[in-house]
Amino acid sequence: MRVLVAGGGIAGLAAAHALVRSGADVVLVESGPSLGGKIATERVDGFTIERGPDSFLTLRTAALDLARELGLGAEVMAPKKPEDVFIWHRDRLLPIPAGTGLGIPTRFVPFLLSPLFSPLEKLRAAAEVAMPAAPPSGDVAIGAVLRRRFGDPVVDRLAGPLVSAIYGLAVDELSLDALMPRLRDALARHGSLVRAGLAARATRSAAPAGPQVVTLRRGMGSLVDALASRLAPAEVRLGTPLESVERSGARYVARLGDGTVVDADGVVIATPAAAAARALGNVAPGAAEALRTIAYRGTAGVSLAYEERRLRRPLTGHGFLVPEGALPIVACTWTSSKWSDRAPDGTVLMRATIRADGLLRRGPDELVDVAHRSLARAMGIEGAPLLARTAVWDGAMPRYSVGHLERLACIAAALAPLPGIALAGAAYRGTGVPDCIAQGQAAAQEILSRETKDERAASEIRLRRSSERTDQARGEAASLSRS
Ligand SMILES: Cc1cc2nc3c(=O)[nH]c(=O)nc-3n(C[C@H](O)[C@H](O)[C@H](O)COP(=O)(O)OP(=O)(O)OC[C@H]3O[C@@H](n4cnc5c(N)ncnc54)[C@H](O)[C@@H]3O)c2cc1C
Repeated sequence: MRVLVAGGGIAGLAAAHALVRSGADVVLVESGPSLGGKIATERVDGFTIERGPDSFLTLRTAALDLARELGLGAEVMAPKKPEDVFIWHRDRLLPIPAGTGLGIPTRFVPFLLSPLFSPLEKLRAAAEVAMPAAPPSGDVAIGAVLRRRFGDPVVDRLAGPLVSAIYGLAVDELSLDALMPRLRDALARHGSLVRAGLAARATRSAAPAGPQVVTLRRGMGSLVDALASRLAPAEVRLGTPLESVERSGARYVARLGDGTVVDADGVVIATPAAAAARALGNVAPGAAEALRTIAYRGTAGVSLAYEERRLRRPLTGHGFLVPEGALPIVACTWTSSKWSDRAPDGTVLMRATIRADGLLRRGPDELVDVAHRSLARAMGIEGAPLLARTAVWDGAMPRYSVGHLERLACIAAALAPLPGIALAGAAYRGTGVPDCIAQGQAAAQEILSRETKDERAASEIRLRRSSERTDQARGEAASLSRS
């Protein structure tokens, strides 16, 4: 079976790897000059700098399982302690109250003692336990649910920055059904989100759980390198975009940017949604139209290194989040305080995230300046950075806005008559590295099961034909014996 995989990000690599392991003849095409997509690690002067993701969740096991399968088990590294995260509020870094799960307070004392909120704001949030459950009937923004239940200050200063740090978008536009359907279930079951949180805490095992996020000692790029080294005998073509897919009987013809074509039994499209829409424009115009409605937003990460002695505030924790508009940056990861082996002794490494569209259009020097000024103000840094690296991702984060699941249903319906075409990647069912790996692997299985189905259908046809021949022969023999 021949399969074309388009897109050499983690989703496409995971799909190609699964297909190669199952014996498929794979052609992987990537429009860019290297594999990995958003995952890229740079090692310079003893610093390990991530341009994209710096870690992955363990709860969704696909990334951890794959890392272990690729022989990277010994490289898996838990974050350093303390794991405190701070919020920038009124020119100070204040700790997030203990027991705050995704912005929902589940421990009363730390929340009541927190200087993040006024007594009235705390009272308003505490009233959540007595509110009628009233789960929303259709899909709504996560922010709408949280604002109604806890009031604006909790969302603006705590829940919003936390949720947006995870999903890369504003809490007021993210789809509840696509990203946090559990909130709706919790309301229906417990009548209140605080009560649901308390119940979850009470039933949680007392045994110490493993780390929720981990990384790889030599950086996330080592996952890409390990996958790339196991793709043989697949054909990997860099700098070669997929342009279009057309049907040719039961097979497909993929036209590539270098003017060549590839005939294939299956096609996995693991590119961003706009490129998938372009490729499917002729063969599945309905899917292309729905794909075009998945919008993206840009983001930039500015990694800055400093001499440790230049910091007035020691780095103790994983970083801080910034409520909308309080600083030009939205978050800062204290990379060398979160992970071991990221910076030489006596130095620190941090990464500031910038999302404002106006800032993203500026050049790298201006972004470094904006990030450095924000960090200097928040953490009292004196002097210039030792090293600066900027990674600007134009339109990198798919927006899971309200109605996302409906868009996916439209795409699935439009692709249903085209067995052998599968989509995977951050645009669809989760943006995290484990989600993208799981989607790539599922797409590979979908294509492989088509082969199994086709083989079964072919063998059924063979059986039917041979039994028809046997019946015919029997009939002829019977008529001969009668004559
Ligand atoms: C700054 C940043 C930080 C992040 N942090 C985390 C984190 O800490 N943890 C986490 O789990 N996730 C994180 N994410 C999210 C996660 O990294 C991404 O969602 C995931 O890597 C996307 O993988 P993908 O394969 O779907 O897409 P991509 O990585 O975008 O890969 C798609 C590939 O398709 C190629 N392509 C485009 N058009 C074509 C075409 N026509 N033909 C062929 N190839 C094409 C592209 O060049 C690209 O290589 C972060 C993302 C960013 C941007």
